[in-house]
Amino acid sequence: MNGVTPSSQGESRPVSSARQASTAVSAPRILVVEDEAALSLLLSYNLEAEGYLVERVERGDEAELRLIESPPDLVILDWMLPGVSGLEICRRMRAREATRTLPVIMLTARGDENERVRGLAIGADDYVVKPFSVPELMARVRALLRRSRPDRVSSVLAAGDLGLDRENWRVSRGSRDVHLGPTEFRLLEYLMAKPGRVFSRSQLLDAVWGFSADIDERTVDVHVGRLRKALSLPAERDPIRTIRGAGYSFDETFGKSG
Ligand code: CA
Repeated sequence: MNGVTPSSQGESRPVSSARQASTAVSAPRILVVEDEAALSLLLSYNLEAEGYLVERVERGDEAELRLIESPPDLVILDWMLPGVSGLEICRRMRAREATRTLPVIMLTARGDENERVRGLAIGADDYVVKPFSVPELMARVRALLRRSRPDRVSSVLAAGDLGLDRENWRVSRGSRDVHLGPTEFRLLEYLMAKPGRVFSRSQLLDAVWGFSADIDERTVDVHVGRLRKALSLPAERDPIRTIRGAGYSFDETFGKSG
């Protein structure tokens, strides 16, 4: 992961081979079925950063083939796809023995309650409406995998005296609880999961506020300010770094020195 930056413009970089080697044995495999290239890339990038093995396809008929040849541990499935629709893929998965219980998260631009009900009725386990925040989707992925693969998913991030429990939405510093709003929590989770990585404001907007959310980049600064204020008392070290002209990162030396 070192120095690799996702780009919503479509630049693709694989995770490091060391990481793949360390996760190849037991990492859950996730199939991303999404025809919107930038979103597919953003998802696979973030899933790989969490240690999952990701395969991406753009068409419904390709997804069908992959699901028959080699079922993954979880599927993230866009509703509107070329070839075969996400809804139809989900229906067919439920009709086949090998994929009957395979966790499925449906993605869709439709916020319509009827569509939601149809998706869940056909057997999707969860349902996410675009634009969604990446940490929120990651939380749902973890929740579903925890149910189907409880041995493979970790829910706590820690650095120095700072701890973040993804499952219980709890953050602590030393012996005190840190109270964060939902946006600050997701920001911290996102930064903390990739120590040392510098994220631009627009990357943070995509990831934390939702892909293609129409929000001013200065909003990021406001929430980072709130996050800092909540995390660190005046004498304590600030774990968030501002990189002038670039963005923000979680200080990778936090908890390891001074
Ligand atoms: Ca689509």
